[in-house]
Amino acid sequence: MTTARIIDFLNTRRPEGPCLVVDLDIVRDNFKAFRHALPDSAIYYAVKANPAPEILRLLAGLGSNFDCASVAEIEMALDAGATPSRISYGNTIKKERDIARAHGLGITLFAVDSHEEVEKVARAAPGARVFCRVLTDGEGAEWPLSRKFGCVPQMAVDVLVYAHQLGLVSYGVSFHVGSQMTKLDAWDAALADAKRVFVQLAKQGIELKMVNMGGGFPTKYLRDVPSAEAYGQAIFGALKKHFGNNIPETIIEPGRGMVGNAGVIKAEVVLVSKKSDNDSHRWVFLDIGKFGGLAETMDEAIRYPIRTARDTDAMEPCVLAGPTCDSADVLYEKNMYPLPISLTIGDEVLIEGTGAYTTTYSAVAFNGFEPLKAYVI
Ligand SMILES: *Cc1c(COP(=O)(O)O)cnc(C)c1O
Repeated sequence: MTTARIIDFLNTRRPEGPCLVVDLDIVRDNFKAFRHALPDSAIYYAVKANPAPEILRLLAGLGSNFDCASVAEIEMALDAGATPSRISYGNTIKKERDIARAHGLGITLFAVDSHEEVEKVARAAPGARVFCRVLTDGEGAEWPLSRKFGCVPQMAVDVLVYAHQLGLVSYGVSFHVGSQMTKLDAWDAALADAKRVFVQLAKQGIELKMVNMGGGFPTKYLRDVPSAEAYGQAIFGALKKHFGNNIPETIIEPGRGMVGNAGVIKAEVVLVSKKSDNDSHRWVFLDIGKFGGLAETMDEAIRYPIRTARDTDAMEPCVLAGPTCDSADVLYEKNMYPLPISLTIGDEVLIEGTGAYTTTYSAVAFNGFEPLKAYVI
């Protein structure tokens, strides 16, 4: 969303080069929408989506908790004012010495998805609470998370029993339905799996307390997406269906849905050209590409809305590419992007919905281009 504050910032500051501008008012609105949609769930913001200190401070002040993937992210959340009890170490792939460092910082909640990881946590953070991540099929997600994280539900039972045997607190089950999940019913099947794990554990005398329902809440790119309210209703319905009157403590971990629509990238057209005199389409090159922060255009998965000052002119599809000397640095080619025919070198473009997964994906100096600058206003 290109808010009046963002336009005003760009017009008065005129920052040089590509940059992301994040409007904190939108982040605040998003947080409130999540809290309103799922009032009984604790919100753990997925720090990796955008760890700008201003965002973390705002969310900490609003009462958010934080899902961190590394010790560095844990330290950022602590610096922003979160207490250790409000932080989860949610990565299932951790070095044992990082678990020990997190434990030393006071973190008591860890994700696992294997016996091997349970052993590490038991050694490095004795007595901690653990939740086991289960696989989901990711169907319906525009940015699916594949099979990298989680184990099958039957194995989650064994992993949590093992954690209990090693003196940890087997605390719950987690899943992530896949990022940019546009299907409201995606949580239903995952919650059914979670419930089965609860039942199996109860049979062995272990009472799980928590379901971590992960992220996946979408940002509006070109197509409309259901509101936070609609997700809240679907998820609450699924919780009631599977857990009845015994709904456990629940967590959600929005990343994209918290910050995606709060950011806009200002970029510039560097070149408009063709590959032959009778080429049927133009190539438009921007001063930002896959290595400058737009990594989620990989496989043309995420299609960002792009605005220009010439949008009332006639449009034609073009290949859109970044500025680096790597042939992978093409944003949209299979599915070309309509831009004004009058678009010309030096024009500014605004790439909307870029508050999440951009600065954190930007390379440090590939081809000598600086990492994506960010202004949080
Ligand atoms: C990345 C991540 C999230 C955030 O996912 P979004 O789809 O951006 O909401 C939440 N939880 C975990 C464990 C993650 O790795």
